[in-house]
Amino acid sequence: MKLAILSRNSQLYSTRRLREAAEQRGHEVRIVDYLRCVIDITSHRPAIHYGGARLDAVDAVLPRIGATHTFYGTAVVRQFEMMGVYPTNDSQSISRSRDKLRALQLLAAEGVGLPVTSFAHSTKDIDGLISLVGGAPVVVKLLEGTQGMGVVLAETKKAAESVIGAFRQLNANILVQEFIKEAGGSDIRAFVVGNRVVAAMERTAAPGDFRSNVHRGGEARKVRLTPEERAAAKRAAKILGLNVAGVDLMRSNHGPVVLEVNSSPGLEGIETTTGIDVAGKVVEYIATNADGRAPSRASK
Ligand code: ADP
Ligand code: GLU
Repeated sequence: MKLAILSRNSQLYSTRRLREAAEQRGHEVRIVDYLRCVIDITSHRPAIHYGGARLDAVDAVLPRIGATHTFYGTAVVRQFEMMGVYPTNDSQSISRSRDKLRALQLLAAEGVGLPVTSFAHSTKDIDGLISLVGGAPVVVKLLEGTQGMGVVLAETKKAAESVIGAFRQLNANILVQEFIKEAGGSDIRAFVVGNRVVAAMERTAAPGDFRSNVHRGGEARKVRLTPEERAAAKRAAKILGLNVAGVDLMRSNHGPVVLEVNSSPGLEGIETTTGIDVAGKVVEYIATNADGRAPSRASK
C-alpha cells in the first residue's frame, strides 16, 4: 500500500515509528505536511497539490493533526476522502473528538460513564453550576485547554466561585466537573485500534498535583484493564467514529469514566511504557481496511 502520513514534522517520535512500522511491512510511505497541501476544489476532479505536484496514487492517509491545526488539517483529510482515499480516522470523527463538549454530549447520549459534568459560558448562576455537579470539590476546565493547562481543582465552594468568576472574565467556555478523588491522581490511557484495546498505561500525577499528564511530571506504568474498562474505551472510540484513538479514563466509585478521546494519540509514552509495537498495530489495521473500502461515516 502507498501510505501518506499527515504530519507537520517527520522527526516526531510518533511519525518516525509509524513510518518505520509501515516500511518494515513493505509499504511505501510518504510524510506529508498537511499545512503545505493545496486543496484543489475542482468539480469532478478533487485533488491535492503538494510541493508543486499533484499528490496521486495514495491508497491511505494516516492523519496526525495537531490540536492547533484542526481546521485546516481536517479540510485536508476531507479532501483525501473526496478523492476516494482511505483515512484511518475520517475528518468528521476528528472534528467531533476535538470539540470536547460535542464529544461529551455524544458519549453521554449513548450512556458512556463520564464524570458528572456541567458546562457554561457566562452564567451568573455560579452556585447553581457548582451544585449541578454535586458541590465542591470540583474540577474547573477551560474548554480549549490541553496537556492539563486550564484544569483547576477547587477544593471549596469559595475557591470554585472565584475560579469560575475569573474564567468568566476571560469570556471562556468552561466545564465544571465532579472531582474524582478516589482515582488518587491517576488516569488510564487506553490505545484503541479498530475494535481492540492494543495497549494501556496508567499515569499518576506528580506529588502535590492531581493532574496526571506526563507533561506535568506525571509517571506512567503498564496496567491491566478490567473488561468493563476495555468495553468503555472501545465504545467511546466507536461512538465518535474513531478507528485509532487514545481514550483517557479514570477509575471512579461509579465505574470507569471517560475524560477525553484523542484522535492523534501519541505513541512514545504508550510504546515505551508497555513495550508494545503500537505503531505496527496501527499500520496492520490500515493495511487490512484500506483495501478499496470507504470509511464509515456517521452523520453527527
Ligand atoms: P487535558 O486535556 O488538558 O489533559 P484533562 O481533562 O485530561 O485535560 O485533565 C488533565 C488531568 O487532570 C487528567 O489527566 C486527570 O489526571 C486530571 N483530572 C481531569 N479531570 C478530573 C476530574 N474530574 N477529577 C479528578 N481528576 C481529574
Ligand atoms: N499527544 C497527545 C497525547 O496522546 C495528544 C495528541 C492529540 O492532540 O490528540 O496525549
